[in-house]
Amino acid sequence: MISKKKALEILNSGIEFFDIIKEYNIKKPRYVTYSKNVFIPVTNACRNRCKYCFFRSDKPYILDERYVINLFKIARRYDCKEALFTFGERGDLASTDIRMKLKEWGFDDIIEYVYHLAEKALEYDLLPHINAGVLTYDEMKYLKEVSASMGLMLEIASKRLCNKGEVHEHSPTKHPKYRLQVLINAGKLRIPFTTGLLIGIGETNEEIVNSLFLIRAIHKRYKNIQEVIIQNFKPKRGTPMENAREPSIFKMLKVTFVARLILEDIPIQIPPNLNPAWELFINFGANDLGGISPVTIDYINPESPWPRIEDLYERLKEQGIILRERLPIYDEYIKKGWYSERVGKVLRKYINTYS
Ligand code: SF4
Repeated sequence: MISKKKALEILNSGIEFFDIIKEYNIKKPRYVTYSKNVFIPVTNACRNRCKYCFFRSDKPYILDERYVINLFKIARRYDCKEALFTFGERGDLASTDIRMKLKEWGFDDIIEYVYHLAEKALEYDLLPHINAGVLTYDEMKYLKEVSASMGLMLEIASKRLCNKGEVHEHSPTKHPKYRLQVLINAGKLRIPFTTGLLIGIGETNEEIVNSLFLIRAIHKRYKNIQEVIIQNFKPKRGTPMENAREPSIFKMLKVTFVARLILEDIPIQIPPNLNPAWELFINFGANDLGGISPVTIDYINPESPWPRIEDLYERLKEQGIILRERLPIYDEYIKKGWYSERVGKVLRKYINTYS
């Protein structure tokens, strides 16, 4: 296994990086995967205020059930298998308007509402992947009943970034102790889990390496991390970080490479809509392209359209690699039976094709 010292040396390297990589045998994958999804941005109310965030709003909306069901219907026409639910964190705690709306619709809180929407998704043969931010053990246990998998970006395990003047100054649940606990609880509950790093938000190379080693340690203990996203920060107009520089491709390649060495066989995802040269990353350890939606935009990065699936296929073919559709729960966890009976009913309709 690579040491922390060596990982840091690689991240700190200049052009000699291309000599260093020759010391390691990173195999090019035969397959690169993606999941065909519909993106449901349930609410943009959020209890945090991350300085790079474009999604959160002080005048928030919450999608009503009719609108969401209409998206499910369209998604099925396009043969999507995944319903990706994203949120601001606990928008009901942050906004009286959202609380009142939920009450009017007969729900005690946002968790209950999402449970209901996920049930509806299953009725339309869509497998829910829920990204609801920091949740308690009991909330995760409750949502597991109706989710094929769940996710939470660790981003960077840095208390320092929660200090005054830093990006997470006003985002209490971005403190690593809460986020790491969610990853651990997912392990205890046998929830296939997606996490990831956000690069370019003021972190140091030491913090990147530490974050990857923490993910690795949790996975070693619980075997529950189904993939790790390596995401580059993109500056958004109107946010406090609008003039910040996004990380270079060189930096992102180094992080991907180091992640591959530390995380060993955990799949690594690179979002192709945020990286025009995404296929380069396949040679440095990435082997998944995440959710691609033929139906909805990336609401978190609306300026970055999804590439067409046909283009992904052709560009990988040039490298002799096959693009393969996967479900929001990876094969390994299907085989291990890490899903509820309700999810299993939908899953079994797809298993013959995907496992
Ligand atoms: S990045 Fe997520 S947690 Fe932070 S403010 Fe935006 S929606 Fe909230």
